[in-house]
Amino acid sequence: MSLDDIPYVCGDCGAGGVKLWRSYSMFLRPGAYKCADCTAVYREADISTQHPDGWLLDKDDRKTYIIGDWWVPAVQSLDDPEVIWGYTSIPTEDLVVWETMPLRNNND
Ligand SMILES: [Zn+2]
Repeated sequence: MSLDDIPYVCGDCGAGGVKLWRSYSMFLRPGAYKCADCTAVYREADISTQHPDGWLLDKDDRKTYIIGDWWVPAVQSLDDPEVIWGYTSIPTEDLVVWETMPLRNNND
């Protein structure tokens, strides 16, 4: 199993072309990525404060990109889409591209 075997779509609802999140610790699994809505359901997280850029406010009203219990943005490398950046090493320009992707397909 390598990253290029995992399509960049939500493993739960199948949404593509949208921002996806992944577990901080485990991401080399089919269906490992989820859209914001499916991540919120899966982690029982409140994403009502979520901005279209993907960040939301944590319980202390601080800006975070993490949904629930450590689901982090699945940001692809611009140079090699097979590469998903580690959460602490995402280059700013790659994060900006991820931020421009819609949160969801229907009413974004
Ligand atoms: Zn989904």
